[in-house]
Amino acid sequence: MTNLQIAVDGPAGSGKSTVAKKIAEQLRITYLDTGAMYRAVTYKALEAEIDLNDQAALKAVVDQMTICFNQNSIIVDGLDVSEAIRTQRVTLNVSLVSADAYVRSEMVKRQQAIANGQSVIMDGRDIGTTVLPNASYKFFLVADPRERARRRLAELSAKGFTGDLDEIVADIIRRDTFDSNREVSPLKKAEDAIEIDTTDLTIEEVIEVILKAVRS
Ligand code: C5P
Repeated sequence: MTNLQIAVDGPAGSGKSTVAKKIAEQLRITYLDTGAMYRAVTYKALEAEIDLNDQAALKAVVDQMTICFNQNSIIVDGLDVSEAIRTQRVTLNVSLVSADAYVRSEMVKRQQAIANGQSVIMDGRDIGTTVLPNASYKFFLVADPRERARRRLAELSAKGFTGDLDEIVADIIRRDTFDSNREVSPLKKAEDAIEIDTTDLTIEEVIEVILKAVRS
């Protein structure tokens, strides 16, 4: 049996990770959150207090760090950083770090190694275009920025945090713009990806659309 590769790309807050995680459970395949890997590099770079524009310093951080996944936790250099990579500080700096060419080439290599030899569903920005260009199925999720911000706010509230809707909208738009305009593998819909507008869909409805395509 050949391995199944499913790519789920799209801007921040479009529902990719929630949907991909649930599909992985239903299909009993591996889920890989590639955004968590870029967040992990950003977290380590901030911890090392390097200048995030210093390419050589970023390279040293990447070359020295180990990243692995255990269930849905991300383990960096032996420590569970699943919570630490979701802070506002990491979120504000991750687009800058992930635009670095060396950071990207290393992360893409590691992501491809994980996909090698097993069935996977990966979510990110460049999975369909760069990481898994030959994926069996590619989806590109989009949603209205305000709706995406509402979802982020709901996620924050569920964890006991507060946030300002307008600030989250601004951050989402800033990150989308940065991610879409960087030189190396920008956020972009692969030509053969199926676009799904999730603005008025529930998570279950999005999952249904994807599973229908995969099973057909
Ligand atoms: O998916 P998430 O919002 O956690 O991703 C955080 C950031 O990581 C994105 O804003 C983007 O800058 C970067 N990213 C990327 N390529 C991916 C996944 C995430 O550049 N495949």
